[in-house]
Amino acid sequence: MSLNIFSSKEVQDLLRASSNLDGGAGASRFKQILHRLLGDLFKAIDDLDITPDEVWAGVNYINQLGRDGEAALLAAGLGLEKYLDIRMDEEDKRAGLEGGTPRTIEGSLYVAGTPLRAGVSRIDIDADADAGPLVIRGVVTDTNGAPLANAVVECWHANSKGFYSHFDPTGAQTDFNLRGAVQTGPNGEYEFRTLMPIGYGCPPQGATQRLLDGLGRHGNRPAHVHFFVSSDQHRKLTTQFNIEGDPLIWDDFAYATREGLIPPIVEKSGGSKLGLKEDSYKEIEFNFVLTSLVQGKDNQIVHRLRAGAEA
Ligand code: FE
Repeated sequence: MSLNIFSSKEVQDLLRASSNLDGGAGASRFKQILHRLLGDLFKAIDDLDITPDEVWAGVNYINQLGRDGEAALLAAGLGLEKYLDIRMDEEDKRAGLEGGTPRTIEGSLYVAGTPLRAGVSRIDIDADADAGPLVIRGVVTDTNGAPLANAVVECWHANSKGFYSHFDPTGAQTDFNLRGAVQTGPNGEYEFRTLMPIGYGCPPQGATQRLLDGLGRHGNRPAHVHFFVSSDQHRKLTTQFNIEGDPLIWDDFAYATREGLIPPIVEKSGGSKLGLKEDSYKEIEFNFVLTSLVQGKDNQIVHRLRAGAEA
């Protein structure tokens, strides 16, 4: 039963006071956003007759989410991160910007500080008996197809257990295992020599999975590889590709899969010469197309707290 008190003067005054909307101190943008979000919450409580027990369950959940360090993971799982991509895609469309590699979510497991190599980097530092060799290679170009030399391609992915280095609860990986950064050569080419990842699952005892359980949703992602690609005079690309054939490709709990980001896998031999652990290996060719700066600026660069480590 809605009490219909949201619009009352008492509630509206409370909202304005708690967000200090009429006070001179504080940051006006912050106050504007807080006032709106809090108002939407108050209104939902009124409309849906959300009980005090339910409100406190939510408050306690936020505490648990923080203790588990999973707020960014939940943002992916609830589609918030995907929604930001949808908005950026629409901004691009309205500005007539086309032709770049599709963006998709960054996720929460990037680590800054990966050593930069020229052209090629072997990134499987730690042994992983259950993963076969994989070469990821391609070129970076602009939207006219011109190769971009000295572009930087960064990649990161999970191991055969679905864990990322730096965040591996088993402690089995060194900080930059399966993370690489390569500067492209004169023809825009890059190459990573690595191991085949498998899909990722949210920590089963964590706050994100607990919420998903309540929704009747799984917390799994198909196998994928993340990328940042940057180059002077171009906008930084944040994307991923999926490993073809993974059954969860179109059932990703983080909604990152897109057409154009599922490259074919090619069986190859000659891995021994490349220093791979087996002669037969899989190769994924994936070319990146970067879009130009807009009036000299990367208008969609995203600043967020990211993990870092030193090599
Ligand atoms: Fe990931």
